[in-house]
Amino acid sequence: MGEKGLLLVISGPSGTGKGTVVRALQRANSSLRLSISATTRLPRDGEVDGVDYYFMERDIFKKMIEEGQLLEWAKVYGNYYGTPSHFVRDALERGNDIILEIDIQGALQVKEKLPEAVLVFIAPPSKTELQTRLLGRKSDSREEIEKRLKCMTGEMKLAGGYDYIVVNDSINRALDNIHAIIMAEKCRTWRQQSIIEQLSQPGS
Ligand code: 5GP
Repeated sequence: MGEKGLLLVISGPSGTGKGTVVRALQRANSSLRLSISATTRLPRDGEVDGVDYYFMERDIFKKMIEEGQLLEWAKVYGNYYGTPSHFVRDALERGNDIILEIDIQGALQVKEKLPEAVLVFIAPPSKTELQTRLLGRKSDSREEIEKRLKCMTGEMKLAGGYDYIVVNDSINRALDNIHAIIMAEKCRTWRQQSIIEQLSQPGS
């Protein structure tokens, strides 16, 4: 039986650039697979069912909760989001590394169920910088931006439950830090049992 895969969970306030970070990580590590979430929100322009999300009606989502098909789920900005359990568990057993891009409530549920999950919180360098980035996106109204900034204050209070905080002041520095985290986590003693056993056998 090979080593179990690494489960990397990435979260962060909207506007911190976590989407960019996740896409860059996938490009750099062809073995890192992104779990596709289920959601009740409507697809945005260009989003494809089964690629960006599994888009579904609320009753189907609720049935998935009742049947225990979700590793975690949460209501974010009025819509439900959740991670299908079977994909993550099967992939980890097969030794594949998985990345989840989910909100804080979901990430903390994952940590409870799978304590070996590695939780990385992407933080903006400052409130002002986050505000500038959100304004720059031009996709949200002033009220929406205010709502997201307020939301960040609450989210930061929960960030203490994460294993790592990576400040995204420069995308390359943030990526270097996450690559270092992945490498260090792969060297964890509990992941290296086979080499310990192999080298501790008596004889030449
Ligand atoms: P968006 O609608 O902009 O794609 O995502 C909104 C928020 O939902 C983001 O913070 C994103 O990380 C979070 N999210 C996406 N998928 C999941 C999921 O499966 N579970 C949880 N808990 N949050 C998710």
